[in-house]
Amino acid sequence: MEKLLCFRSSCPRCEKYGDIQVVACSQENESFYLDKFHCDEWRAFDFGLFSVACYCPECKNFVSASVSVAHNEVINATAKLVDFADENNRIKPGPKLIIDFDVPALLPPQHFSSPPIVSVLDLYQQASKCYSLQAWEAVGILCRKIVDIQSIFMWKIRYPDKDHPDKLAQRLEELLVKGVKKKNKVGHSELADVLNFYSIKHRLFYDMDRIRESGNDAAHEILAYHDDDAEAMLIFTQNFLEESERWMSSLRRARINPTSNKESKEDEGHPCGHDRVVS
Ligand SMILES: [Zn+2]
Repeated sequence: MEKLLCFRSSCPRCEKYGDIQVVACSQENESFYLDKFHCDEWRAFDFGLFSVACYCPECKNFVSASVSVAHNEVINATAKLVDFADENNRIKPGPKLIIDFDVPALLPPQHFSSPPIVSVLDLYQQASKCYSLQAWEAVGILCRKIVDIQSIFMWKIRYPDKDHPDKLAQRLEELLVKGVKKKNKVGHSELADVLNFYSIKHRLFYDMDRIRESGNDAAHEILAYHDDDAEAMLIFTQNFLEESERWMSSLRRARINPTSNKESKEDEGHPCGHDRVVS
Protein backbone atom coordinates (compact mmCIF):
# COMPACT_ATOMS: atom_id res chain seq x y z
CA MET A 1 0.00 0.00 0.00
CA GLU A 2 1.24 3.47 -0.82
CA LYS A 3 2.42 5.44 2.17
CA LEU A 4 0.02 8.21 3.23
CA LEU A 5 1.06 11.81 2.88
CA CYS A 6 1.44 13.55 6.20
CA PHE A 7 2.48 16.83 7.74
CA ARG A 8 3.30 18.09 11.21
CA SER A 9 0.81 20.43 12.85
CA SER A 10 -1.25 21.04 15.94
CA CYS A 11 -4.45 19.06 15.67
CA PRO A 12 -7.44 21.44 15.72
CA ARG A 13 -9.42 18.88 17.70
CA CYS A 14 -7.03 17.76 20.44
CA GLU A 15 -4.44 20.54 20.02
CA LYS A 16 -1.59 18.00 20.23
CA TYR A 17 1.32 18.72 17.90
CA GLY A 18 2.29 15.75 15.79
CA ASP A 19 1.88 13.95 12.49
CA ILE A 20 -1.43 14.53 10.74
CA GLN A 21 -2.21 12.07 7.94
CA VAL A 22 -3.82 13.04 4.64
CA VAL A 23 -6.34 10.31 3.94
CA ALA A 24 -8.00 11.86 0.87
CA CYS A 25 -7.33 14.74 -1.48
CA SER A 26 -9.47 16.59 -4.03
CA GLN A 27 -8.86 15.70 -7.67
CA GLU A 28 -9.47 18.99 -9.42
CA ASN A 29 -7.29 22.03 -8.96
CA GLU A 30 -9.82 24.69 -8.11
CA SER A 31 -8.11 27.65 -6.54
CA PHE A 32 -8.39 31.39 -6.35
CA TYR A 33 -5.47 33.74 -6.45
CA LEU A 34 -4.80 36.07 -3.51
CA ASP A 35 -2.02 37.86 -1.66
CA LYS A 36 -1.43 37.05 1.96
CA PHE A 37 0.98 38.42 4.51
CA HIS A 38 2.75 35.22 5.36
CA CYS A 39 6.12 34.49 6.94
CA ASP A 40 6.81 38.24 7.18
CA GLU A 41 6.21 38.93 3.52
CA TRP A 42 3.36 39.53 1.12
CA ARG A 43 3.14 36.53 -1.15
CA ALA A 44 0.77 35.46 -3.86
CA PHE A 45 -0.93 32.13 -3.28
CA ASP A 46 -3.23 29.82 -5.11
CA PHE A 47 -5.67 29.51 -2.28
CA GLY A 48 -7.33 26.20 -1.54
CA LEU A 49 -5.49 24.47 -4.37
CA PHE A 50 -6.27 21.17 -2.66
CA SER A 51 -8.97 20.16 -0.23
CA VAL A 52 -7.86 17.35 2.01
CA ALA A 53 -9.34 15.05 4.62
CA CYS A 54 -6.93 14.59 7.50
CA TYR A 55 -6.69 12.12 10.32
CA CYS A 56 -5.14 12.72 13.73
CA PRO A 57 -3.79 9.42 15.14
CA GLU A 58 -3.62 11.03 18.57
CA CYS A 59 -7.34 11.75 19.09
CA LYS A 60 -8.53 9.54 16.20
CA ASN A 61 -10.58 12.34 14.66
CA PHE A 62 -10.97 13.40 11.06
CA VAL A 63 -10.83 17.03 10.05
CA SER A 64 -10.84 18.70 6.65
CA ALA A 65 -8.32 21.30 5.53
CA SER A 66 -7.38 23.35 2.53
CA VAL A 67 -3.87 23.54 1.15
CA SER A 68 -2.72 26.80 -0.43
CA VAL A 69 0.44 26.91 -2.49
CA ALA A 70 2.65 29.79 -3.66
CA HIS A 71 1.19 31.01 -6.94
CA ASN A 72 2.46 29.36 -10.09
CA GLU A 73 0.12 29.52 -13.03
CA VAL A 74 1.82 26.77 -15.03
CA ILE A 75 2.86 24.19 -12.43
CA ASN A 76 -0.13 24.51 -10.13
CA ALA A 77 -2.65 24.00 -12.93
CA THR A 78 -1.87 20.30 -13.15
CA ALA A 79 0.01 19.63 -9.90
CA LYS A 80 -0.90 16.85 -7.50
CA LEU A 81 -0.53 17.22 -3.76
CA VAL A 82 2.19 14.57 -3.75
CA ASP A 83 4.33 16.90 -5.91
CA PHE A 84 4.71 19.14 -2.87
CA ALA A 85 5.87 16.35 -0.57
CA ASP A 86 9.43 15.18 0.00
CA GLU A 87 10.74 11.68 -0.69
CA ASN A 88 9.29 10.48 2.63
CA ASN A 89 5.81 11.69 1.62
CA ARG A 90 6.00 14.56 4.09
CA ILE A 91 4.51 17.93 3.26
CA LYS A 92 6.20 20.84 4.98
CA PRO A 93 4.05 23.90 5.65
CA GLY A 94 6.23 27.00 5.31
CA PRO A 95 6.68 30.17 3.26
CA LYS A 96 5.39 28.47 0.10
CA LEU A 97 2.68 26.23 1.46
CA ILE A 98 -0.09 26.87 3.97
CA ILE A 99 -2.45 24.29 5.44
CA ASP A 100 -5.62 25.76 6.99
CA PHE A 101 -7.95 23.45 8.84
CA ASP A 102 -11.54 24.17 7.91
CA VAL A 103 -13.65 25.84 10.55
CA PRO A 104 -11.69 24.68 13.57
CA ALA A 105 -13.83 24.34 16.65
CA LEU A 106 -14.03 27.43 18.82
CA LEU A 107 -14.55 26.41 22.40
CA PRO A 108 -16.93 28.74 24.21
CA PRO A 109 -15.12 30.89 26.78
CA GLN A 110 -15.23 29.73 30.38
CA HIS A 111 -16.27 32.49 32.73
CA PHE A 112 -15.08 32.30 36.31
CA SER A 113 -16.61 35.54 37.53
CA SER A 114 -20.10 36.58 38.48
CA PRO A 115 -21.44 38.38 36.53
CA PRO A 116 -19.41 36.83 33.72
CA ILE A 117 -16.79 39.27 32.42
CA VAL A 118 -15.35 39.01 28.93
CA SER A 119 -11.69 38.23 28.61
CA VAL A 120 -9.67 40.09 26.02
CA LEU A 121 -7.83 36.86 25.23
CA ASP A 122 -11.12 35.12 24.42
CA LEU A 123 -12.03 38.05 22.19
CA TYR A 124 -8.66 37.82 20.48
CA GLN A 125 -9.19 34.10 19.87
CA GLN A 126 -12.59 34.87 18.38
CA ALA A 127 -11.02 37.51 16.14
CA SER A 128 -8.36 35.04 14.95
CA LYS A 129 -11.06 32.49 14.19
CA CYS A 130 -13.05 35.10 12.28
CA TYR A 131 -9.91 35.82 10.29
CA SER A 132 -9.50 32.17 9.35
CA LEU A 133 -13.16 32.16 8.29
CA GLN A 134 -12.49 35.27 6.16
CA ALA A 135 -15.02 37.30 8.16
CA TRP A 136 -12.95 40.47 7.82
CA GLU A 137 -15.46 42.97 9.22
CA ALA A 138 -15.99 40.79 12.28
CA VAL A 139 -12.23 40.91 12.94
CA GLY A 140 -12.27 44.74 12.85
CA ILE A 141 -15.26 44.99 15.17
CA LEU A 142 -13.86 42.48 17.67
CA CYS A 143 -10.44 44.17 17.76
CA ARG A 144 -12.12 47.49 18.53
CA LYS A 145 -13.98 45.78 21.37
CA ILE A 146 -10.65 44.47 22.69
CA VAL A 147 -9.33 48.06 22.78
CA ASP A 148 -12.52 49.18 24.50
CA ILE A 149 -12.32 46.54 27.23
CA GLN A 150 -8.55 46.64 27.75
CA SER A 151 -8.59 50.44 28.00
CA ILE A 152 -11.07 50.14 30.90
CA PHE A 153 -8.68 47.75 32.69
CA MET A 154 -5.82 50.16 31.99
CA TRP A 155 -7.85 53.09 33.28
CA LYS A 156 -8.67 51.27 36.52
CA ILE A 157 -4.98 50.71 37.18
CA ARG A 158 -3.98 54.24 36.18
CA TYR A 159 -6.86 56.12 37.85
CA PRO A 160 -8.35 53.77 40.47
CA ASP A 161 -10.51 56.52 42.01
CA LYS A 162 -11.80 58.15 38.85
CA ASP A 163 -14.58 57.06 36.46
CA HIS A 164 -13.48 56.41 32.91
CA PRO A 165 -14.95 58.49 30.04
CA ASP A 166 -17.65 56.58 28.17
CA LYS A 167 -16.40 57.64 24.75
CA LEU A 168 -13.49 55.44 23.69
CA ALA A 169 -11.64 58.16 21.73
CA GLN A 170 -11.70 60.48 24.73
CA ARG A 171 -10.75 57.67 27.13
CA LEU A 172 -7.67 56.75 25.09
CA GLU A 173 -6.46 60.34 24.91
CA GLU A 174 -6.98 61.02 28.61
CA LEU A 175 -5.37 57.75 29.55
CA LEU A 176 -2.32 57.91 27.33
CA VAL A 177 -1.60 61.19 25.53
CA LYS A 178 -3.87 63.91 26.83
CA GLY A 179 -5.27 66.29 24.21
CA VAL A 180 -2.81 65.25 21.53
CA LYS A 181 -5.20 65.64 18.61
CA LYS A 182 -6.66 68.98 19.64
CA LYS A 183 -3.35 70.46 20.74
CA ASN A 184 -1.68 69.57 17.49
CA LYS A 185 -4.80 69.87 15.33
CA VAL A 186 -4.26 66.44 13.79
CA GLY A 187 -6.39 63.48 12.83
CA HIS A 188 -5.18 59.88 13.03
CA SER A 189 -3.40 59.98 9.68
CA GLU A 190 -0.98 62.70 10.88
CA LEU A 191 -0.62 61.36 14.42
CA ALA A 192 2.68 59.64 13.72
CA ASP A 193 4.29 63.07 13.16
CA VAL A 194 3.49 64.33 16.65
CA LEU A 195 3.96 61.18 18.72
CA ASN A 196 7.19 60.09 20.34
CA PHE A 197 7.58 56.39 19.63
CA TYR A 198 10.22 55.97 22.33
CA SER A 199 7.37 56.34 24.81
CA ILE A 200 5.31 53.25 25.51
CA LYS A 201 2.21 55.40 26.14
CA HIS A 202 2.55 57.06 22.76
CA ARG A 203 3.04 53.73 21.03
CA LEU A 204 0.02 52.33 22.86
CA PHE A 205 -2.03 55.36 21.88
CA TYR A 206 -1.03 55.05 18.25
CA ASP A 207 -1.95 51.36 18.04
CA MET A 208 -5.13 51.58 20.09
CA ASP A 209 -6.45 54.67 18.33
CA ARG A 210 -5.76 53.09 14.98
CA ILE A 211 -7.68 49.95 15.96
CA ARG A 212 -10.52 52.13 17.28
CA GLU A 213 -10.83 53.99 13.96
CA SER A 214 -10.51 50.90 11.83
CA GLY A 215 -13.09 49.10 13.99
CA ASN A 216 -15.46 52.01 13.41
CA ASP A 217 -14.96 51.59 9.67
CA ALA A 218 -15.65 47.86 9.96
CA ALA A 219 -18.84 48.54 11.92
CA HIS A 220 -20.24 51.52 9.99
CA GLU A 221 -18.56 52.31 6.68
CA ILE A 222 -20.00 51.38 3.31
CA LEU A 223 -16.49 50.94 1.84
CA ALA A 224 -15.28 47.34 1.72
CA TYR A 225 -13.16 46.13 4.59
CA HIS A 226 -10.39 43.97 3.18
CA ASP A 227 -8.34 41.00 4.32
CA ASP A 228 -5.28 43.22 4.79
CA ASP A 229 -7.30 45.58 7.01
CA ALA A 230 -8.31 42.59 9.12
CA GLU A 231 -4.79 41.21 9.20
CA ALA A 232 -3.33 44.59 10.23
CA MET A 233 -5.90 44.74 13.03
CA LEU A 234 -4.81 41.37 14.39
CA ILE A 235 -1.14 42.42 14.29
CA PHE A 236 -1.81 45.81 15.94
CA THR A 237 -4.03 44.18 18.55
CA GLN A 238 -1.53 41.52 19.50
CA ASN A 239 1.16 44.18 19.76
CA PHE A 240 -0.85 46.58 21.90
CA LEU A 241 -2.06 43.78 24.20
CA GLU A 242 1.53 42.79 24.98
CA GLU A 243 2.62 46.39 25.51
CA SER A 244 -0.39 47.28 27.63
CA GLU A 245 0.29 44.33 29.95
CA ARG A 246 3.87 45.57 30.40
CA TRP A 247 2.62 49.10 31.00
CA MET A 248 0.08 47.97 33.61
CA SER A 249 2.59 45.84 35.47
CA SER A 250 5.03 48.74 35.58
CA LEU A 251 2.25 50.92 37.05
CA ARG A 252 1.52 48.25 39.65
CA ARG A 253 5.21 48.09 40.55
CA ALA A 254 5.34 51.88 40.81
CA ARG A 255 2.38 51.81 43.18
CA ILE A 256 4.05 49.29 45.48
CA ASN A 257 7.32 51.23 45.46
CA PRO A 258 6.48 54.88 44.62
CA THR A 259 10.04 56.16 45.02
CA SER A 260 11.33 53.81 42.34
CA ASN A 261 10.14 56.00 39.49
CA LYS A 262 8.53 59.31 38.67
CA GLU A 263 5.56 58.09 36.68
CA SER A 264 3.37 61.01 37.75
CA LYS A 265 5.68 63.50 36.06
CA GLU A 266 4.93 62.27 32.61
CA ASP A 267 1.19 61.88 33.10
CA GLU A 268 0.48 64.79 30.83
CA GLY A 269 1.78 62.79 27.93
CA HIS A 270 3.70 65.59 26.28
CA PRO A 271 4.65 64.37 22.80
CA CYS A 272 8.31 65.04 23.51
CA GLY A 273 8.31 63.61 27.04
CA HIS A 274 10.27 60.45 27.56
CA ASP A 275 8.46 57.62 29.17
CA ARG A 276 9.91 56.80 32.51
CA VAL A 277 7.70 53.87 33.36
CA VAL A 278 8.87 51.54 30.64
CA SER A 279 11.02 52.74 27.85
ZN1 LIG B 1 -6.08 15.23 17.42
